[in-house]
Amino acid sequence: MKIKELFEKKEKTFSFEIFPPKTPEGDIKLIHETLKELSLLKPDFVSCTYGAVGGNKDKTLALVEHIQKAYDIPSMAHLTCISHTKDEIHEIVKKIKAKGIQNILALRGDPPRDNPDMVPGIDNYKHSSELITFLRQEYKEDFCLGVAGFPEMHPLSPTRESDIKYLKHKIDCGADFIITQLFFDNQIYFDYVKSVKSAGIIKRIIPGILPITSYDGLIKFCKTCGATVPEKVHKIFAPIKDNPEQIVKAGIEFAINQCKELLSNGAPGIHFYSLNKVQPLKDIINSVR
Ligand code: FAD
Repeated sequence: MKIKELFEKKEKTFSFEIFPPKTPEGDIKLIHETLKELSLLKPDFVSCTYGAVGGNKDKTLALVEHIQKAYDIPSMAHLTCISHTKDEIHEIVKKIKAKGIQNILALRGDPPRDNPDMVPGIDNYKHSSELITFLRQEYKEDFCLGVAGFPEMHPLSPTRESDIKYLKHKIDCGADFIITQLFFDNQIYFDYVKSVKSAGIIKRIIPGILPITSYDGLIKFCKTCGATVPEKVHKIFAPIKDNPEQIVKAGIEFAINQCKELLSNGAPGIHFYSLNKVQPLKDIINSVR
């Protein structure tokens, strides 16, 4: 099922992002434990990340196909374009279609860590908008297309205005909805939604929420993705950073409060960055749905 068809039926959706594990043990745990338990939480859809350099592309597609077939949950494959040639993208999309996958999160991707200054070649799509244009030209309405939005603007954007201008361009090229980068201060999301709507974008802007399960991990991750860690988060989590149980408990409480405020102020659902962990999500979703 296409995710945009869900939107016609549901005012708010609750969905999860998972990632393909890097080890065979991780694969077994995800397939035989985590996905079963996540499916019991009845997500409206599940999305699966894609390695920036495409290293785990087969795993992404296999996982999305598995979730659809085994659990009948609409699922979405992330697809990044800068590290693939246009021909490679064409071949991957053929596979996506052959597997019956109907939803793609169309992304540019980041340069590989060992080559951060990589400039995409002439044979590569440089921006997600080019990938979206290709998908719409070649595949018309075969896919529902999501895109990334950055409430604090994309780290490479010179200004917020420019970031929103290019977000509008992605929508004009054919994207159906937006999932945001994580954030911890809801006002940032509310201001972003206002600016995006003022730019004439009427598609859903689903907030991406990370349940905090590690303080050090959070600091490291936010540095790479450009999200701000507000003072209130430092205050809660820094003093308990060496107590994993307390961190998880506080992370659940923080996410519940964050989601409740978002939902009661018009957010069209929540996309949870699950990090392939079930327990925090179970408590959060049961409390906010
Ligand atoms: P783009 O839309 O191409 O934008 C990138 C930058 O270029 C922005 O500054 C934008 O304003 C600017 N820009 C856009 N179009 C133009 C244009 N035509 N001309 C000039 N400038 C332009 N990464 C992965 O590797 N794998 C994943 O699975 C993954 N999943 C993600 C899921 C979500 C919800 C989010 C928010 C991010 C995800 N990312 C993932 C990270 C993402 O790939 C990076 O943040 C990447 O740097 C930007 O991707 P994009 O699709 O937003 O790029």
